[in-house]
Amino acid sequence: MPHSNLNITPKLPKTGLSIFSVMSKLAMENNAINLSQGFPDFDVSPELTELVYKHLKDGKNQYAPMPGLPILREVISDKIFKNYALKYNPDTEITITAGGTEAIYAAIAAFIKEGDEVVIFTPAYDCYEPAILLNGGKPVYVQMQYPEYSIDWQQVRKVLNRKTKMIIINTPHNPTGSVLKKNDLKELERITANTDILVLSDEVYEHIIFDKQEHQSVCKFPLLAERALAVFSFGKMFHVTGWKTGYVVAPSNLMNEFRKAHQYIVFSVNTPLQYAFAEYMQNESNYRMLPDFYQQKRDFFRSAIKDSRFKLLPCTGTYFQLLSYADITDEKDTDFAIRLTKQKGIASIPVSVFYNNPTDNKVLRFCFAKKNETLEKAVQIINNI
Ligand code: GLN
Repeated sequence: MPHSNLNITPKLPKTGLSIFSVMSKLAMENNAINLSQGFPDFDVSPELTELVYKHLKDGKNQYAPMPGLPILREVISDKIFKNYALKYNPDTEITITAGGTEAIYAAIAAFIKEGDEVVIFTPAYDCYEPAILLNGGKPVYVQMQYPEYSIDWQQVRKVLNRKTKMIIINTPHNPTGSVLKKNDLKELERITANTDILVLSDEVYEHIIFDKQEHQSVCKFPLLAERALAVFSFGKMFHVTGWKTGYVVAPSNLMNEFRKAHQYIVFSVNTPLQYAFAEYMQNESNYRMLPDFYQQKRDFFRSAIKDSRFKLLPCTGTYFQLLSYADITDEKDTDFAIRLTKQKGIASIPVSVFYNNPTDNKVLRFCFAKKNETLEKAVQIINNI
């Protein structure tokens, strides 16, 4: 096919292939252990796959209702009530989405207009900024403080103005593994009080949180929940990132707008999977085990590399461990991540790519959602660097 001669004006001139695709591809080409893109390398529960199979065979193969299967939305409503003591109406306040990324895109598309400002915290997960830009919005960046990656709310106050339409928070936080505390949510509640600012709360790692910390969902703060769309993920909950399924909860007037965008982005989501989730999720132990399950992996990984030349940064949530290599080399994190993949056979994610300005703290992100066998191999390599 010849190159097109059309004169096109890219809407995202600075955007390339996502770092996750780049590093996973490089890992594959070099036969490296892939701790870059975040996904489990162990299997899904056979009970869950059996349920999908059952519903496939049972003819549940046509469009689901646009907002999702009613039974699944009911189960979600009960789950949120049990966990966060807030009741969302399954009919009007919950929508099943094609994963967290679609949910975030639809939320931004539904509300952000030309010139609206959206506050994001850097390092920021990579799908926020392009979604804001594609919808004519202006990302406003507030940098989290290294090495704890905490939010300075005084700084947030300074950037708010009449154009601020939305603040996007993410806890447990990807890529840093930090979590927001009750006080952070209280601060957010205070600074948004008496404004029309929306909160988009990315909580896809809600159950991957350690050391007996409680996840601080916006759903636990009624004054925040009033202005919030909260995003969750089945992929993270049931080790099925490739099924691309999640959900959003919000007050009905916000949800009404959200659905207008959602219905023309995907219309509705994979039907048999929704039937399967509705059944599988009713057994709470299927997700209550997550903190312990991942904490064991985190603890194994951390203790096995504690004498390496890397420095471990705190990890309170998510399945990502940040390692500082400041004592090893001055190389740029992007260069070092590529070199480790090609020469040492281990792939990670350089954290600088999640900043709007050049910020290279010499930190790489490693995903520990892996079989012990994979982690053991990874540990050997890391300890020899
Ligand atoms: N959420 C996954 C991560 O942080 C990546 C998802 C993707 O590849 N877009 O690694």
